[in-house]
Amino acid sequence: MNNSPVKKRSKQREAVLKVLCNTVSHPTADWIYRQVREVIPNISLGTVYRNLSVLAEDGLLIKLDVGDGIDRFDACCAPHYHFVCDCCRKVSDIAIPYTEELDEAAEKLASLKIRKHELIFYGLCAECKNN
Ligand code: ZN
Ligand code: MN
Repeated sequence: MNNSPVKKRSKQREAVLKVLCNTVSHPTADWIYRQVREVIPNISLGTVYRNLSVLAEDGLLIKLDVGDGIDRFDACCAPHYHFVCDCCRKVSDIAIPYTEELDEAAEKLASLKIRKHELIFYGLCAECKNN
């Protein structure tokens, strides 16, 4: 029973989510794959991708596109803003509170129903700024 396909799948899914929950780096699927392999050596990159998609669909993580066509992943699902360094491409959270007024303003402007907005700041991180 321990090796049933369902158990195996949920074990893989848990391992993927655990890796993501233990980092604040907004990693790529490739980085997550390398970390998960430390725990489940025979897992494939395709399986990691599939699990990331399922977890995103279930609302347990968010997929983030910062404009370079490389998906990044974030286990923090509460609405929040991001910063991307133009130089080292590091992605971090920006601790500006989510502005619900923006959603309301957009809704009033044209009779829309807004679910959320996303905001990405671009510039130089503290390290790159000083180099
Ligand atoms: Zn940087
Ligand atoms: Mn984030």
